[in-house]
Amino acid sequence: MDRLNLGLISYCTQIVNPMNKFLTLLLLCLTSLAHSHEDSSICYLRDPGGRIREHNVDFLTMNLTVNFNTLESQVIGNVKYEFKPIQYLVDTLFLNAPNINIKSVKVNGQNTPFDTNKEGLTIRFTSTLDWHKTYKLDIDYIATPRRGLYFVGWNVTDKNPTKNRYFTHKQIWTQGQGIDNRHWIPCYDDVNDKLITSTTITFDSAYTVIANGALKKKTKNTNGTTTWSFAMDKPMVPYLIMIAIDKYTYKDYKSKNGMVSRQYFYSNLPETAIPTYQFSGEMMDWLSSEFQVSYPWQVYSNTPVQEFMFGAMENTTATIYGDFSLNDSRGVLDRAYLSTNAHELTHQWFGDYITEYSAQHHWLHESFATYYAKQFVRQVQGEEKYQMDKRGEANSAIWADKRDRFPVAHSEGGSSRHYPKGSFVIDMLRYTVSDSVYRKCITAYLKKHAYGNVSNHDFMMSFMETAGINLDWFFDQWVYRAGVPNYEVYTEYKTDKTIFYVNQTHKVDELTGYFKMPIQFKVHYTDNSTSAFKTWISGPSDTVVIPNSGNKTVAFALFDVGCQILKTTTFNKPYPELAAQAEQAENYIDRYDAVVGMRSVAMDTKRDLLLRLFNKEKFHSIRNEVVFQLKGDSSENRVPFFKKALNDKDHQVRRETIQQMDSLPIALIADLEKMLSDSSYINVELALRKLTKQFPENTKTYLTKTQNELGLNNNIRMAWLEIAIKSTTDSTEYRKHIAELATFSSNQFEFRTRMRAFDVLEEIKYADDQVLRNLIQARLSANSRLSNPAMNTLKTLFRNKAYKDQVKTIIETSEWKDWEKEIVQKIID
Ligand SMILES: [Zn+2]
Repeated sequence: MDRLNLGLISYCTQIVNPMNKFLTLLLLCLTSLAHSHEDSSICYLRDPGGRIREHNVDFLTMNLTVNFNTLESQVIGNVKYEFKPIQYLVDTLFLNAPNINIKSVKVNGQNTPFDTNKEGLTIRFTSTLDWHKTYKLDIDYIATPRRGLYFVGWNVTDKNPTKNRYFTHKQIWTQGQGIDNRHWIPCYDDVNDKLITSTTITFDSAYTVIANGALKKKTKNTNGTTTWSFAMDKPMVPYLIMIAIDKYTYKDYKSKNGMVSRQYFYSNLPETAIPTYQFSGEMMDWLSSEFQVSYPWQVYSNTPVQEFMFGAMENTTATIYGDFSLNDSRGVLDRAYLSTNAHELTHQWFGDYITEYSAQHHWLHESFATYYAKQFVRQVQGEEKYQMDKRGEANSAIWADKRDRFPVAHSEGGSSRHYPKGSFVIDMLRYTVSDSVYRKCITAYLKKHAYGNVSNHDFMMSFMETAGINLDWFFDQWVYRAGVPNYEVYTEYKTDKTIFYVNQTHKVDELTGYFKMPIQFKVHYTDNSTSAFKTWISGPSDTVVIPNSGNKTVAFALFDVGCQILKTTTFNKPYPELAAQAEQAENYIDRYDAVVGMRSVAMDTKRDLLLRLFNKEKFHSIRNEVVFQLKGDSSENRVPFFKKALNDKDHQVRRETIQQMDSLPIALIADLEKMLSDSSYINVELALRKLTKQFPENTKTYLTKTQNELGLNNNIRMAWLEIAIKSTTDSTEYRKHIAELATFSSNQFEFRTRMRAFDVLEEIKYADDQVLRNLIQARLSANSRLSNPAMNTLKTLFRNKAYKDQVKTIIETSEWKDWEKEIVQKIID
């Protein structure tokens, strides 16, 4: 588990060249001396959305008491605050509370006048407040929220006759981030004021109730309800307030430091607990040790919920995640919770313990959660996975730059900047300052701002204050400005030296300059020795010379060993160098790039090498690339190779193989048929589709073999129905399948099943009255991952005018609430 402690900069110590020790020292000195032209810590793009919100009081505590009317989707609430004025003259106080029906407001026990508008509640104090005093506020209210708090499944009356595991649950849960808790709690709903909360909930005793903090009291009432009281002991921001209710069971994971992670799962799915929550204890220990800051809260739990619109949410002490990540041992092959689990746990420090001042500093949450999840997965799944994850991050950042040019530190940077690009930037920061300096500064940064707010500048200053390093140049190019460098690299091999010519060829303007980074160059010789050199590359053109005193023959040369820099590169190499690099480079990513670089090389030239690499490499990325390149092979090697690949022990290699084969040689049918019982649910679906397409005469046999498989959110069942509906000639069977499909499109099922059902309906161009009603209902969902596909399916069906007329009639003859009316009207506009 201390694999990471080798650190990124330790590549230097693995180099044989005796000059290297000197160079490493030189690099560290250069790092601390490094100055750049700008000394700025402000984003170069205007960012009005990143402005810190002003407020006139400081909230200290919140005591929230709620119960629910599930059939009316209502929250009946009371919230009590203690607060202190922080501005000098305070005669009013505004709380965000859109559409909340405020019943009464008391200040220090006295009824106090208030107004409401569509944004919230304005309290008008009878006299100006004294900023030396603490005040008590008490608000009774009723909310019928469409955002922030969600009632799932309470209006579904049907039971689950087929015991399908994706049948709807009855749940209540919340999602506060960005600014949605204001829809069910009147509050100062922003990130720059922290308070200590407690939550009391009364609900049906048959359910499990989860809220932030430790459960302090649980009282059974006489009417079949129970009252649960939870309390935090440290402050947090209101967007992190949560509630989750369903019938859950849990498994506790104790970490070595004694902290317990309580991992909830659905009582009817005990087989999901261990695959979903594996390594929960280890990640708690690893993160605490990595940060050198103990887990900052009393308790921790993970809770799955249905219809979740994101992946997961790091509510303090109580993460909520989409139940599509609650999977059995087969499901986790394709959808594992591991990385998300680590991401959300990291947020308990980065986001909850130290919190951004405003959205401009959002990467201080997300990039760190992404970075440490990636590092934890590296511990579990290895260096190859880590290097490929970084490649995925780089690709995402580079693609984002084609769309727009926002920096990482910008409220509109978007998820590609706030997650993957920022995560890669942290890797580069660690690589630049060294592992030990980075870790020392992170610990100091966390401790200094414990339970407080942070800005980009605070993070940069932690390196100045802790290690004396001014990183303004680094933040300037990677955090406050946009873009990534493009390097064009050429080499010249002289008898006594290798010369690298490096040009930065990206467009340079006020938002993207020339990048300055320490870059490692390495030459591998045919006698298996190497020389390396690490130096600053900063200008439009640089030349780097590596002496070759033994006049050795160069096997291949590397620019930026191990791809430490986020960049695009043009560095053309002849096949013999690519081949040597693919076999001998130390880092997986350098070997991978060499293999990808062979795409245009003739098959006869590269075939033997590719087959060798397929057998030698362990991780799937290079092996999949080999499958991709060998699909065009017409030699006698083709069938034996694909036979081997279809039977590979790695399900991702089996998948790549099945996807790359347009049509299947007859000799491989039996191997593909075996995949109808593959451990991966996705592979089963792919095999079923491929086989029935190529051998329609065997469809019945293939359907019989897979008739009891549901798959991941019913992926196999839905493919099965689609194929069965298209292929059957029996009208009774057809009707039976259509009825099943229509049920899958209804609110009896969670949203991913419904989305798949919509896809099949679109594919077979079928709808009836019930299906159209299901689609309209899905369009009304607050979950855009359901409502958008529903609208798309409706649009496709509307190409048949009869369907549009039918929807119009349904809409005109049904009763709708006011908010529903607006949405359904747009369906037919
Ligand atoms: Zn996150």
